[in-house]
Amino acid sequence: VACLLVASTFALPASGDAATAGEAWSVRVVGSLILQAPADSAELLDGLARGAERLLPRIEARLGLHPAAPYRILLIPPSAGAAGGRRDLDAVAPAWAAGYLFPERRIGAIRIGLADRYPWSDPLSVLVHESTHMLLHDASGGGLPRWFEEGVATGMERSWGVRDVLVYSSSLLVGRLPGLQEMDAAFEASEEQARAAYAASFDFVHWVARRRGEGALGAVALEARDRPFAEAWERVIGEPLSRSERSWRHDSLLLYRWLPALTGTATLWMSITALALLAAARRRARDRAILQRWSDEEGDTGPGTP
Ligand SMILES: [Zn+2]
Repeated sequence: VACLLVASTFALPASGDAATAGEAWSVRVVGSLILQAPADSAELLDGLARGAERLLPRIEARLGLHPAAPYRILLIPPSAGAAGGRRDLDAVAPAWAAGYLFPERRIGAIRIGLADRYPWSDPLSVLVHESTHMLLHDASGGGLPRWFEEGVATGMERSWGVRDVLVYSSSLLVGRLPGLQEMDAAFEASEEQARAAYAASFDFVHWVARRRGEGALGAVALEARDRPFAEAWERVIGEPLSRSERSWRHDSLLLYRWLPALTGTATLWMSITALALLAAARRRARDRAILQRWSDEEGDTGPGTP
């Protein structure tokens, strides 16, 4: 459904090492990224490490940002039972988050079983998303607006696509477009509001990047280290944030709300939305079936069965 950028005020295990203590873990190092997975998930780990080698340098080049120090991402396979310090870490993030990062602690995780949920598409996209949060934190020293963080992180992991149009247009058909100021609260609200906030922040950041280039996004994060975000924005983008927002709202509402309505494609959008809801219901049913099967297997076989 969404990712969580976790505030450092949450109670956490005393150190990052506590998260993997007492378990066998495989490790791959890609630049500043230390990827870790339970020893029986080495194949998955290798695949992600290869993807990270290919993609992370590109993300850094696109934003003009680099990690300030090593950081760790843990892979949590769907079948892995959380244990020890990792359970403590994982318990802090909401159950629906496909990935999360504690930027101050330089540690995060990917829940492989949730990685195809919006706004993500697969484990590698979650990895890029969380790594982008790390880059933005290192550039700015923290404290960026949530909509900016999520818009940039989602924009780095993939291009604006059909799924985004679907989520965004359907949220505009049934509700109003929240202002950037309100959007930060929406990430913490209901699942539905969070989805809409991801899509809207992605659309805004994408809109800005088309006009000023992706490097401008990294430059805003760097400028925000020394001054309030709104001042950093104006220095880099060349106009006040409120003016950028007004222009974007005008363009975006026209394209994603009024155009479908005016051209008579609203019915089409409604049908697509209904299909999406149906798919979500199917997914929930499948998840329930998997959970049921796991609990049956546990009951049937006990530990140590090959
Ligand atoms: Zn995020």
